[in-house]
Amino acid sequence: MSDAFVQVRDLTVQFPIAGRMIRAVQGLSYDVDLGRTLAIVGESGSGKSVSSLALLGLHDRRRSVITGSISIGGREFVGMPEAKLRHHRGNTAAMIFQDARASLHPYLTVGYQIAEAYRLHHRTTRRAARAHAVDMLGRVGIPHPARRADDYPHEFSGGMCQRVMIAMALVNDPKLLIADEPTTALDVTVQAQILGLIAGLRDEFGSAVILITHDLGVVTDVCDDVLVMYAGRGVEHGPVRSVLGSPTHPYTWGLLESLPSLSGPAGGRLHPIPGAPPDPLEPLPGCPFHARCEFRDRVADGRCRTHLPDLAVRTGDDAHRSRCHLAVPDAVFAAEIAPRLL
Ligand code: SF4
Repeated sequence: MSDAFVQVRDLTVQFPIAGRMIRAVQGLSYDVDLGRTLAIVGESGSGKSVSSLALLGLHDRRRSVITGSISIGGREFVGMPEAKLRHHRGNTAAMIFQDARASLHPYLTVGYQIAEAYRLHHRTTRRAARAHAVDMLGRVGIPHPARRADDYPHEFSGGMCQRVMIAMALVNDPKLLIADEPTTALDVTVQAQILGLIAGLRDEFGSAVILITHDLGVVTDVCDDVLVMYAGRGVEHGPVRSVLGSPTHPYTWGLLESLPSLSGPAGGRLHPIPGAPPDPLEPLPGCPFHARCEFRDRVADGRCRTHLPDLAVRTGDDAHRSRCHLAVPDAVFAAEIAPRLL
């Protein structure tokens, strides 16, 4: 039995689209320990953001159906009453979103917004909350925090707005930070600074971090584990070194091949994964990736089209599992995919 701070087990999230219930997330399980970062990676629509919103109970509870278990710090979040969830949002777990500027109130100073987030969970004076907000702005690297606390979001750059969002998320010292594509709208240098900041604050606050991204390139530097999602399911999961060093699922191979290469010829073409994810209104039988997978015909009896593979260990690393019928995926990767990545 795991004693990880975050334990997600067999999570399924359903909500209606076009009058029908779709399963946006199916049978998802993972752990995140304090002081560690899990990256959840996948294309748009893979379920990575939906599954993470479920952790904070941010779905429309009248329309969505969430089953399975989400345990954070030993408390069960699935089925928790809204009033209790509100208490834990910000206090136990907090989220930072992709577009920081859009998430901040344009008519309120950043110091006021951070102080109010603090006062939501603490009985304290406005003066004390402001002092706390200024302290947080300094800790996320905003220069002259006492002065900048009185500025409005439009007076900050995109990277600085993201730092303000991180300060607001961490002001109540939550032990779980969920960062949903926190660097997508930022240029490459600022991306690296924000990811470094999140990793530094994780170590300083001793928090668990879930980093949601579509970019495998950002995973290597700051994450311990990675969960690759496709069509609402986890398809490959394990330590970053193992999953990215010796990936065993053709979808992960496709994500790696679609990354730009610094060692390739200048002007070289990118290699996107052909096709598109399955329509959630028309789920495919068998492996959900089979319509796009160049290896499906190497599996006997057309099993890829009829049988969903289990998430199972396929290499020497017990912590590394993937959902594929291929007999020796690590050998296929070494012989055929790795040379293409050079
Ligand atoms: Fe490809 Fe079959 Fe593996 Fe799915 S199970 S990823 S279709 S080889």
